[in-house]
Amino acid sequence: MTDRKQQISANLAQVEERIAAACRAAGRKREEVTLIVVTKTYPAGDVRILSELGVRDVAENRDQDAAPKAAACSDLPLTWHFVGQLQTNKVRSVVGYAGLVQSVDRSRLVTTLSREAVRAGREVGCLIQVALDAGEGGRGERGGVAPEGIEELGDLVANAPGLRLDGLMTVAPLTGEYAGRQQAAFERLMDLSTDLRRAHPAATMVSAGMSADLEQAVAAGATHVRVGTAVLGVRPRLG
Ligand SMILES: *Cc1c(COP(=O)(O)O)cnc(C)c1O
Repeated sequence: MTDRKQQISANLAQVEERIAAACRAAGRKREEVTLIVVTKTYPAGDVRILSELGVRDVAENRDQDAAPKAAACSDLPLTWHFVGQLQTNKVRSVVGYAGLVQSVDRSRLVTTLSREAVRAGREVGCLIQVALDAGEGGRGERGGVAPEGIEELGDLVANAPGLRLDGLMTVAPLTGEYAGRQQAAFERLMDLSTDLRRAHPAATMVSAGMSADLEQAVAAGATHVRVGTAVLGVRPRLG
C-alpha cells in the first residue's frame, strides 16, 4: 500500500469506529447510517483509493472541481452527491455525474434540474437543504430554505419529471438559536423529516453531520453523514 492509501485507510477505520460507537450508543443498527466521504479539494487519485477501500458514496460542493474528477473516476462504482450551493448555469454539468443533489433550496433550481435530468435521460435524487438559521428572506447564508419552505419545495420536486424526492439535508448552523447546539439542530431536522414523510413516505434520507459532529447526527437519527477532513485530512484550501 502507498503511504497515502495507508493513511486514508487508517482514517476511514477511525471514522467507521466512531459511526459504529454512535450507533451502539443510540441503539441503532450500523446499516442504518451511510458514510458519504466529501472529497472536495482532494484529487481524483484519492477518490480512486477510497473506492478501492470500499467507499461507494462521495460528495463534492463545486462543479468546477467535481466535473473533471468525476470524469476521471467514471470507471468506478461510485455515487456522486452534490452538496454545495448550486447555480442554475451549472446544473447541466452536475446532472452529468451526480446521482443526488443534496442542496435543493429554491423552485428555480428544481425547474432547471428537472429539465436537465429529462434532457440527459437520468433520474436525479433530490434532498431539500434546510437552513435552520434562515434569516428574513427565508434562506440560509450557506444555502438552504427555511423550514416553512420545505413542503412547497418537496411537492415541487415530487411532481417534477426526472427528479426523485429522497429527503432532507442540513449543515449545523453557526449562528442563530442552534449555534453550538448541533444535536438540537439535527433533532429539529428529524422532526421536519417526519413531517415531510407524511406526504412523501419514500423521502427517508436525513443527511446531517460532518467530521466534527457526526456523533450528534447519528444520535438524532441521521441516515447519512458527510465526512471530509476526518477521512482525507485538513483541506489544503477553503472549499
Ligand atoms: C465540506 C462539507 C462537509 C464535510 O465537512 P468536514 O468538516 O470536512 O467533514 C459536509 N457537508 C458539506 C455540505 C460540506 O460542504
